[in-house]
Amino acid sequence: MTAERTSVGVVGLGAMGLGMATALAAKGFAVKGFDLSKARRALAVDGGVSPVASLDEVFVDTDFIVFSLPTAKDVAAVVEANLDALKSAGRRVVIIDTSTSEPDVSRDLAAALADIGHGFIDAPVSGGPAGAASGKLTIMIGGSDADIAVAGPVIDAMSAKALHVGASGAGNVAKLVNNLLAAAHMVTTGEGLKLALAAGLDPEAALDVLNAASGKSMISEVHFPTWVMNGRFDSGFTMGLMRKDVRLASELAARTGTDLPLSGAVAKLWAESPLDNAEDFTRMGTFRPVANDN
Ligand code: NAD
Repeated sequence: MTAERTSVGVVGLGAMGLGMATALAAKGFAVKGFDLSKARRALAVDGGVSPVASLDEVFVDTDFIVFSLPTAKDVAAVVEANLDALKSAGRRVVIIDTSTSEPDVSRDLAAALADIGHGFIDAPVSGGPAGAASGKLTIMIGGSDADIAVAGPVIDAMSAKALHVGASGAGNVAKLVNNLLAAAHMVTTGEGLKLALAAGLDPEAALDVLNAASGKSMISEVHFPTWVMNGRFDSGFTMGLMRKDVRLASELAARTGTDLPLSGAVAKLWAESPLDNAEDFTRMGTFRPVANDN
C-alpha cells in the first residue's frame, strides 16, 4: 500500500483530528475530512485536506476512516449512522478510532463491524495537538493483528510510537490508566509547588529539582514549563475532556472491583473543581493563589 493511492477519511477535525488529518495529507494520503462545525472544515483546507459537507461522503471510497470524536457515544452514533453504507460498501474498511472512548463500546463496535466484514481498532492517542500535527503521537492499540497490520501505514503516519496492547478495548483501558495518572500528576505537582512556595522556595527552582530527581513526570517536565509556570494554560486539552477520562477510569475501577483510594480522591477533585469544562486542563496545576489567572 502506498500513501498516494490510499484514501483516508477523518471524522472530527478538532484540536486533535485536524492535526492528524493534516499530518496524513502531508505524508501523501488522499484525505477527506468531516466535522459538524463548518469552521473546522474550512480550516482543514489549508492543511491539504478535502473537506466534505456530510458524514456519508467520508464513507464513500475510503479504505480507512480515522475518528477523533469527543466521547464513546459520538463514536457509536457515527458508526450506527453509516451501517447501511458499510454493509453495501463492496470493499473492506478499517476504522481507526483515536478518540478516548470506552472499552466496552469499542468491543461491541469491533464485533458488529467484523460481522459485516469491516475492521475497527481502538487507537487512543497521547501527545496533544502538537503531536497530532507533527505525526508524532503515541498510539495505544486494541484490536486484531490482521486489522492492525493492514492499517499500519496510516497508524505509522500519525505516530512516533504505536503499541499494540491487546485485543479490542485494550487500547482504551491503557489510555484511561494513563490519563488517570496524568490527572493525578497535574494535581500532585501543583500541590508540591504550592508547598515549596509556602515554605519559601522559588517554585521555578523547585520544579528544576523535581525534573532532575525522582518526583518528575511528563506533566512536570512538559506541561508545567510550557503551560502552567508562565500562566498560558493553552495546551489544547480541555477540563471537560479530562474530566470525562477520569470519570471513565473511576467507572472502570468500580466495574472491576478495584479499590484505588488515592485515585478516588483525585477523581473527586477533578469532578468538583469549579473550573469550567471549556477551560484548559492545565489550570488544575495552578499553585499560586491568583497570580497566574490573568
Ligand atoms: P475537540 O472538542 O477539539 O474536537 C472534537 C471535534 O469533533 C469537534 O470539532 C466537534 O465539532 C467534532 N464532532 C463532534 N461530534 C461529531 C460528529 N458526530 N461528526 C463529526 N464531527 C463531530 O476535541 P479534541 O481535543 O480534538 O479531542 C478529540 C478526542 O481525542 C477526545 O476523545 C479526547 O479525549 C482525545 N484526546 C485529546 C487530546 C488533546 O490534547 N486535546 C489528547 C489525547 C486524546
